[in-house]
Amino acid sequence: MLEPANPANPYTVLVSTRNAHKLVEIRQILGPSFELLDLSSIPALGEVEETGTTFEENAALKALAASAHFDGWVLADDSGLEVDALSGAPGVRSARFSGEGATDVTNRALLLEKLAGVPSNQRSARFRCVIALARGGEVLAHFSGSVEGAIIGSEKGAGGFGYDPLFMPEGFAETFAELGAETKNRLSHRGRALAGLKSWPGWVR
Ligand code: IMP
Repeated sequence: MLEPANPANPYTVLVSTRNAHKLVEIRQILGPSFELLDLSSIPALGEVEETGTTFEENAALKALAASAHFDGWVLADDSGLEVDALSGAPGVRSARFSGEGATDVTNRALLLEKLAGVPSNQRSARFRCVIALARGGEVLAHFSGSVEGAIIGSEKGAGGFGYDPLFMPEGFAETFAELGAETKNRLSHRGRALAGLKSWPGWVR
């Protein structure tokens, strides 16, 4: 087995996502030791229905769907925001929070609406990410990461995606959308989950 941290001989991994922002972050976080393919390499794969009730289940569904069409490593990210004042919502429904035709903009608007009047000391939240790693039609490992923070009262910053302009990580006075990619990736749920994937002992070519 070769060390994964070897840019001269990268591992080829298909990323089972249609979210371009996730792909960009995963590429930044994993760096040159991993050559990432996107779903354009398997046009036969249709939309994967996220019918699971946990991040683990949905990550596995997405990884297995792609693995059925691809002979090699497949990685899938399922992630979302849990807000304590909303009993953990939007959770696994983060992408679809505002219903049919939901976008990041409508999801953030709904979140602010639901939290209207909730005082700042009761706006705690966390991002969670679970990465499923599959090969040969089997999930071989899950990696998870989370980051604690709070939902602020109005949007701040232009970077990132999703709920980033509303999420201020613990210990910082700026949102993920203001902190810049390098800082976000170092702290984030995705960065933490992918650190586990990078150091996984099972990598083989
Ligand atoms: P998924 O494609 O079902 O995993 O949906 C993930 C959703 O969670 C995204 O559409 C965003 O709304 C939210 N989300 C996940 N990760 C992040 C992040 O890093 N920043 C902001 N929002 C995120």
